[in-house]
Amino acid sequence: MPATNCSRFPNINAANGSAPACLNRSSESPFALQAFRSFASQLRRPFTSILAQFGASPSIVSDRLDYPPVSALRRTEVPSPPVNLALVDSEELIREILVRIGEDPDREGLQRTPARIVRSWEEIYGGYEQRAEEILVTQFCAGKYDEMVLLRDVEFYSTCEHHLLPFYGKAHIAYLPKNKIVGLSKLARLLDMHARRLQLQERLTQEVATDLQTILQPRGVAVMIEGKHQCMCCRGVRKKEGTMVTSCLLGAFKENLATRSEFLTLTKS
Ligand SMILES: [Zn+2]
Repeated sequence: MPATNCSRFPNINAANGSAPACLNRSSESPFALQAFRSFASQLRRPFTSILAQFGASPSIVSDRLDYPPVSALRRTEVPSPPVNLALVDSEELIREILVRIGEDPDREGLQRTPARIVRSWEEIYGGYEQRAEEILVTQFCAGKYDEMVLLRDVEFYSTCEHHLLPFYGKAHIAYLPKNKIVGLSKLARLLDMHARRLQLQERLTQEVATDLQTILQPRGVAVMIEGKHQCMCCRGVRKKEGTMVTSCLLGAFKENLATRSEFLTLTKS
């Protein structure tokens, strides 16, 4: 991001440790620059003694006078009292985000946006309220059936925990029953539960497989997920064609090559 607007993103400029672009010497007249250097020179002496009282090293005060010692000022500024964000209204937090990205949260199109976003959290992040044991609580006797059960091409929508942007795609979930089976919709619900949390695709894949293995205790579990990540499409490298494929194989799927091959064949057919 070009650092051209200091008042809008003051913290970003300071965090980079560089002089704000608004203090760029090239834009200053020689007279103004000389006056500023003189002022900074006078300021530096008492500032150093104040630092000494607090036991700070005077060396953090820059000797360079071509711009104010931003890092030194930042280290010694009085911290504002901590805000208990748990007490701040969620819609107020969204309004603040709208302001930070340069918007007017009071314009007509945005007035109800904070409320809509907070309401959507209940669905998008509803997985935190669920437990895998409750989803898979109803199990049926498998009888003599001991071949693979596969739920293929089931869609999911999740949110990348690194950028809070969506990733979505399809999953293939398979298991080899030992004594018990579960309704196919329960496999989809298990996937949804984990997808409706902040996720990494790798962890989403593992969590679905591990829960199914732990709770149903089949002879093996295989989960493969193919996902498209918005954080790769609309930012960063901006490639929209790439698909990420992850898999987790447990029990017989990991140990038996024929079982693994059958799973891979069935997911592609
Ligand atoms: Zn991401």
